[in-house]
Amino acid sequence: MPREFDVIVIGGGHAGAEAAWAASRLGARTAMITLDPSKIGQMSCNPAIGGLAKGPMVRQIDALGGLMGLAIDATGIQFRMLNRSKGPAVWGPRAQADKYKYALEVQRLLSTCPNLEVICGEVAEIVRGTGASPVEAVNLADGMRLCCRAVVVTTGTFLRALMHTGETKTEGGRVGEAAARGLSGCLMRLGLELGRLKTGTPPRLHRDSIDFSKFEIQPGDEQPAAFSYMNEYTSGGWRLEVGGWNQTSNHQPQASGCPRWIPPLQQVHCWLGKTNEAIHDMIRANLHRAPMYSGQIESTGPRYCPSIEDKVVRFADKPSHQIFLEPEGLDTPEIYVNGISTSLPADVQEPMIRLIPGLERAQILRYGYAVEYDMVWPTQIRATLETKRVAGLYLAGQINGTSGYEEAAAQGLVAGVNAARRAMAQGGDFVLRRDQAYIGVLIDDLVTKPPTEPYRMFTSRAEHRLHLRSDNADERLTPLGRGIGLVDDQRWGGFAARRAAIDAATAWLRATRVDGAVAYDWLRREGADWATLGRTVPGAPPLDPAVATLVEIRAKYEGYIARQDKQIERFARLEAKLIPVDLDYAKVLGLRNEARQKLTTFTPRSLGQAMRISGITPADVTLIAVHLERRRAGE
Ligand code: FAD
Repeated sequence: MPREFDVIVIGGGHAGAEAAWAASRLGARTAMITLDPSKIGQMSCNPAIGGLAKGPMVRQIDALGGLMGLAIDATGIQFRMLNRSKGPAVWGPRAQADKYKYALEVQRLLSTCPNLEVICGEVAEIVRGTGASPVEAVNLADGMRLCCRAVVVTTGTFLRALMHTGETKTEGGRVGEAAARGLSGCLMRLGLELGRLKTGTPPRLHRDSIDFSKFEIQPGDEQPAAFSYMNEYTSGGWRLEVGGWNQTSNHQPQASGCPRWIPPLQQVHCWLGKTNEAIHDMIRANLHRAPMYSGQIESTGPRYCPSIEDKVVRFADKPSHQIFLEPEGLDTPEIYVNGISTSLPADVQEPMIRLIPGLERAQILRYGYAVEYDMVWPTQIRATLETKRVAGLYLAGQINGTSGYEEAAAQGLVAGVNAARRAMAQGGDFVLRRDQAYIGVLIDDLVTKPPTEPYRMFTSRAEHRLHLRSDNADERLTPLGRGIGLVDDQRWGGFAARRAAIDAATAWLRATRVDGAVAYDWLRREGADWATLGRTVPGAPPLDPAVATLVEIRAKYEGYIARQDKQIERFARLEAKLIPVDLDYAKVLGLRNEARQKLTTFTPRSLGQAMRISGITPADVTLIAVHLERRRAGE
């Protein structure tokens, strides 16, 4: 008898981990099937989480009750708030991770999940019933069948994956790991259209072979800011609020266990250096051996994260490019050379690296390489991440044409929640709006504007970025996470206490006068902050630094925030007007042919989403609105 699950998650990368965490904690009997369970949570490329727009996204995942923030807080070896000198809309928390400890922490956290079983294997086929019926099982390459009600595919860079280093081509999704061969054909048989993308990674160097004195030190922040709203960094160490988990009869997860106090991992430096004309000349002389330029790779790579070959060609007038040396962990000699991703042959990589001052004696532990892999064009998924063709089949992560751990994790959470809700027939669609989270922006972009290159999140992609700051994600999302059952009592209690502290501080600011001004207005002055206020005025309530930052930002940006709130209100009206998935656009009177075709392909979820499809005009949207009104009135 095949074994039965509610949700099967294929893959144990960042999307798979988050999907399995969410689905199992919502009460779904969940199986994670992955090629190598010891690699669950592995960082394929850079040993870091967060950054501009990505950091706020991790905080949003956390505010909803996700896993990534918890894992990075416990395993970060350097924390920095990027863009601190600019406005808070673009601050980006980032942490260098001990990548081995990070993967182990993800595995440990998953081991606390109720109802989750990890199975080692390769999924070769997704099985649906006859006709248009939803998915009902997966078949493994060894012939085993597992039955289920929903499947989340999170296969990352592994589908028909081909790794390139110079002229050498090897099958595999990541160095030392096999490719998944069978699943692409199955997805095509299910009616999905696949594309092919590529990404690359730099060489790793031995720490002892580097002369760090020729690089500029990049220290971390003295007072790290936690990614998770559950955690706090204090002089005594990290206060990590991760207990074990119990399952209650109504499928609501509940926290048990006490907060852990753990000493922070040793914090380390990174180093900044740069390339020079000599290395650029060597790259130019060997371009014919670079797979991207010799024609060996035809698929598109990320434009914003180019290989060093691309940089030298595209920015030919730049005499140098920055490189960062980043430790991959505390107990490993591996140093990641950020900024020099390459697929040039090994015999070029070695002398090329040694032309950089400080790397004259550098020993390469692992050569850089590029990987080509199959993905599914995301116009074929809905905002829930369910495929339009096959009910119960969800896609998340790199398979949807994105790049990056955070983008993958964000989708994993949304797909895991929707798959569990569908499998257990509990609750409706879980969809985040663009004004609620970068996660909403990401998925909305994917389903309305198919990416032509691996999609990465930027602050500039969000029209409401002052609203989507990293300090206030819990205000928008923790109540939502509570509503869907991902936020446990412990997190909810912490959220309530934080909200009470913010309210009390705001009330005190409005009732207190400083230098003849209301303290709230005083706080708006250039250079004014909560710490100075606390020193100047007796009776200021003591505030946690994260709460003080939020209160300050609210006071300083009150006018801008109010204006953005008005825009969001207008925008929300169109978002709330949902379009039935079975709407026949041929019946919408007056609609242009081009609009009809596009709308039939994209099947937007709401009038707001229809408006964002390129080529759809406000007039088209008005016609749909009129049609929906008539439909409702029964005309
Ligand atoms: P992955 O982390 O790739 O995980 C996929 C999982 O699926 C694995 O656990 C695998 O075992 C499993 N799997 C696959 N097929 C099957 C199957 N049939 N059956 C069972 N299990 C299966 N991102 C950046 O942002 N910047 C970069 O510069 C960058 N460079 C990269 C360079 C390389 C060489 C690689 C490999 C990745 C790079 N990435 C980069 C991408 C980053 O690793 C991904 O964005 C991220 O890991 C995607 O997460 P994911 O969960 O979608 O997939």
